[in-house]
Amino acid sequence: MHMDFSWSETQRRLFDDLEAYIRAEVRTDVVAADREGRFDRAGWEAFGRFGLTGLPIPRSYGGRGCDALTTVGALERLGYVCADHGLMFTLHAHLWTVVIPLLAIGTEAQKGKYLPLLASGQWVGGNAMTEPGAGSDAFSLETTAHREGDSYILNGHKSFVSNAPIADLLTVYATVDRAQGPAGITVFLVETTRPGITIRPIEKMGLRTSPSGEVVFTDCRVPVFNRLGEEGAGGFVFMRSMTWERGCILATAVGAMRRMLEQCVRFARTRRQYGQAIGKYQQVAMRLVGMKERLEASRLLLYFIAWLLTEKRPAYMEAALTKRFISEAWVQTCEDAIQIHGSLGYRVESGIERELRDALGSRLYSGTNEIQANLVASLLGL
Ligand SMILES: Cc1cc2nc3c(=O)[nH]c(=O)nc-3n(C[C@H](O)[C@H](O)[C@H](O)COP(=O)(O)OP(=O)(O)OC[C@H]3O[C@@H](n4cnc5c(N)ncnc54)[C@H](O)[C@@H]3O)c2cc1C
Repeated sequence: MHMDFSWSETQRRLFDDLEAYIRAEVRTDVVAADREGRFDRAGWEAFGRFGLTGLPIPRSYGGRGCDALTTVGALERLGYVCADHGLMFTLHAHLWTVVIPLLAIGTEAQKGKYLPLLASGQWVGGNAMTEPGAGSDAFSLETTAHREGDSYILNGHKSFVSNAPIADLLTVYATVDRAQGPAGITVFLVETTRPGITIRPIEKMGLRTSPSGEVVFTDCRVPVFNRLGEEGAGGFVFMRSMTWERGCILATAVGAMRRMLEQCVRFARTRRQYGQAIGKYQQVAMRLVGMKERLEASRLLLYFIAWLLTEKRPAYMEAALTKRFISEAWVQTCEDAIQIHGSLGYRVESGIERELRDALGSRLYSGTNEIQANLVASLLGL
């Protein structure tokens, strides 16, 4: 068996170019943008110009054509160099819930129409699954899609849709026949300019620079062309998209954990109390050791899942483990960073309290960590 943890010269160059590019091109004041809940459109366009919005999309559709490993390597570097987790979350929602399902089961005509727009960042993607009555139990959704000639008529209420206020294309999960339960769930690629769509922005605790909203469909007519997969394929599409999402969505968090560790080490070496650097106190040092352990373990899980995806091997359980582990590691790392910085870490301008607010969402999205645990338990035969 061959095991090699090194990046190729080409991959290293991509990550270094990315770091230099983001440092030069994405320079928002994240503290102010977070306070105002402002999306950095210029930053998004810069993501588009570099090709981040089309990382895993083949070159023939205008993407960068990266495999899963190179994609997470690039996103890890992005999280290291960029502190705007909202902007990066918009990218994650776009990639994992629209681009990946489209790549996996879109028809050639669908891919040809939408992938170039998504790859360039000209269009933003988002995913509409969650409803007021269907959260963790997502397949109990009530949004309906009735076939009428060469269209479907959508009716329903989606309560938490990342990117909704800025999205051009949504993957919408609806049932064509409630009596069939999960077997009736079907996915539609819905352009948000269609009549019959109302979007109401919602305000969040963290990831505030990533706009989210509720989406209501009232007799919204969607052409049959826009059905993604067959009727009833929704469960399969969801599992596939979730495997990528859970596996890769915290790649930027791994980069952020490295950035925070370096920042905390610098602080612990320079901040002096009682006549010496606080890093000399074992209680402070041990927090930094814990941060380092969590960073290394998270990164290994991330690379392993990306390798499984690159090799097209089953990764459903590993994705759940990765999401659960890294999200908890990220939250703990943010808490440690605040404690190490003392009152400075609690001040808004430090940006550290924002990291914690941003990180807390990761315990909830892509299925809560309790749901990931249920999934692993059941796959263990419990
Ligand atoms: C930042 C963010 C972005 C999101 N983006 C999107 C998006 O783009 N599109 C979309 O469709 N949705 C999105 N969501 C919604 C997300 O998928 C749901 O919040 C999540 O699935 C949980 O559903 P719920 O919030 O209704 O909680 P509930 O399902 O009501 O759960 C409440 C609590 O009960 C626990 N619980 C529920 N069932 C069980 C069980 N069987 N065993 C143990 N504990 C259980 C949960 O873990 C949780 O702690 C987003 C959420 C967040 C926070």
